[in-house]
Amino acid sequence: MGGGRGLFAHQSRQYRRCHPRAREVIKAARDHNCSIRIGVNAGSLERDLLEKYGEPCPEAMIESGLDHIRILQDNDFHEFKISVKASDVFLAAAAYQGLAEATDAPIHLGITEAGGLMSGTIKSAIGLGSLLWMGIGDTIRVSLSADPVQEVKVGYEILKSLGLRHRGVNIISCPSCARQGFDVIKTVEALEQRLEHIKTPMSLSIIGCVVNGPGEALMTDVGFTGGGAGSGMVYLAGKQSHKMSNEQMIDHIVEQVEKKAAEIDAAEKSQAAE
Ligand code: SF4
Repeated sequence: MGGGRGLFAHQSRQYRRCHPRAREVIKAARDHNCSIRIGVNAGSLERDLLEKYGEPCPEAMIESGLDHIRILQDNDFHEFKISVKASDVFLAAAAYQGLAEATDAPIHLGITEAGGLMSGTIKSAIGLGSLLWMGIGDTIRVSLSADPVQEVKVGYEILKSLGLRHRGVNIISCPSCARQGFDVIKTVEALEQRLEHIKTPMSLSIIGCVVNGPGEALMTDVGFTGGGAGSGMVYLAGKQSHKMSNEQMIDHIVEQVEKKAAEIDAAEKSQAAE
């Protein structure tokens, strides 16, 4: 989807206010109990706004958004959210900030046409991340020229990094260097895949050596720190627990994480039952 055109875009604003198609869309949404997303996009702003402002700018996007809100409200329709997307991070962020000041309507965040997996992820993390950090935004969409599964994963990771979603295993890992006692990068890749099924919020530290390993392990539910002679140390609930060989370490960590997840779930259930 990635942004989409503004609802009723390409019509003069005066015309849209009483346009029967607008009323039809609103009626259909109401009849089917659907909400509407107003999707203002810097790339498809109304001609009269472009003439007024000279180019797509935050003010033009905000005015377009507020105008669309008015159309819905004039028709007594209030189940909507609004986005003011742009592919330019600065433009989108400024438009969203202005919009958040101008309306209490739920805001849907997106950096539209953000690019491929790597560049789009970075743009989205900066744009959506800084807005969410400011407390702006109720829903998000990451738009990448990549497999939509990646879009969901990137969106989820943005929320997780900001502490807004806690589901699943938060893996803390070092970048690795010559000191690593095992292959950190390959291990983390393997663990990310093998732990995808865990929905319980918990943390796991995978650290190449004792420089940072014990410190990070103090703050995680399960930890592994590389050591010498082909083995490392397993930490449970922040405490040093037992040694484990590098060969068996991935299977062992998966087991430990599954066990810990089951414990956390059971504790939550019994708490809820009290
Ligand atoms: S924790 Fe150890 S292995 Fe990891 S980057 Fe730091 S020094 Fe290197």
